[in-house]
Amino acid sequence: MPRNLLHTTAIVDYRGVIASPGAILLEDDTIIQAGTPQEIGRPENASVTQIDKIVTPSFVNTHTHLDLSGAGIVPACSSFFSWVEEVVLPIRKETALIQESVLQGIELLSKGGTSIVGDISGTQEAAMLVQDSSLLATTFIELLGTGTSQKECVEQIQQLPEQFGVEPHSPYSCGLNVFKEAFSSGRPVAMHLAETLEEVEYAKNRSGEMTAFLQRMGAWNEDEKAWGNHPIDVVLNLAGDTPCIAAHLNYIEDAHLQRLAESKMTVAYCPRASAYFGHTGHRWQEMLEAGVHVSIGTDSLLCLDTPDRISVIDELRFLYKRDCPDPLDLLSMGTIHGATALGKDQSLVTLHTGETAGLLAFEVLGGSPLLNILESNEMPEWVHHLI
Ligand SMILES: [Zn+2]
Repeated sequence: MPRNLLHTTAIVDYRGVIASPGAILLEDDTIIQAGTPQEIGRPENASVTQIDKIVTPSFVNTHTHLDLSGAGIVPACSSFFSWVEEVVLPIRKETALIQESVLQGIELLSKGGTSIVGDISGTQEAAMLVQDSSLLATTFIELLGTGTSQKECVEQIQQLPEQFGVEPHSPYSCGLNVFKEAFSSGRPVAMHLAETLEEVEYAKNRSGEMTAFLQRMGAWNEDEKAWGNHPIDVVLNLAGDTPCIAAHLNYIEDAHLQRLAESKMTVAYCPRASAYFGHTGHRWQEMLEAGVHVSIGTDSLLCLDTPDRISVIDELRFLYKRDCPDPLDLLSMGTIHGATALGKDQSLVTLHTGETAGLLAFEVLGGSPLLNILESNEMPEWVHHLI
């Protein structure tokens, strides 16, 4: 079997700088060894490729909507509600464009250095396109059902082909029975959770601006009851020990830090999407300190400021500039935390021996290779891509 020996300026993963200069010995999609060029030496049958860049594993996006990639980026609206009504609904009605949008989204993810994705798909057709791509994808079919329409939604979960996960869309668009069925289905489960204050108010008391929004949308169900509690508590009670991915969690209470840390829920924090909708003060660093599993999502292309890519790397750079965090926390969120949340082997996105989901090469700026990754404005190139 031919082997490829990469000689690089440095190699970096979630543990930091593994070696500088660095070397990685590959056999097909498997890392045989990673370390210094001296440690690896010149194994037989290995052709050497010199890469004057910083090489890292590829990244994991735990929450995106590839079928919303067709319209490009869209300026922020005055509110979340007007965004749904004026931007998302018209796209959802253009069903003829789904295939084009998804294929566009897959390409933009790859341009952004992502190999593993959790995609929220509006239709099975969209989900199958993602599954058939070169991405290692977990697809979650979006579900909407409250009140009496929950029955139909529960049947939909029961009848879905085995390869699909499910996404009860949110606490305001899905009733308790839909969440219960999702958690007991044995499928991967994702959701939007604690995204807005209006959602929290709606779950607790079934009042506030969400009520008027649902009425305008024709989605108001008289027979639906208030949950009487914060949606995070209600969903965690229903989830029990079932793993799931919850996007956003922009609005948590102090007691949730401990509860989340003890749960099997992974947070898909979407930093730029949160900022796009004007949410501030996300407690992601406190979550990490408390032991909560926090990964990175991008949400849809619509909310981003990079029309030519959908990239976790941009999210990490955004957080690095804004919140001055530990760079290793960022790399862990963007790689191993996401892989675990999507049921993939962490080693796919590390430089440990074993199969790799892909390798990227970042420009060298000088100084710390770890910081170069976060300080650069350039996207990396793929040096090894899982086909
Ligand atoms: Zn979303």
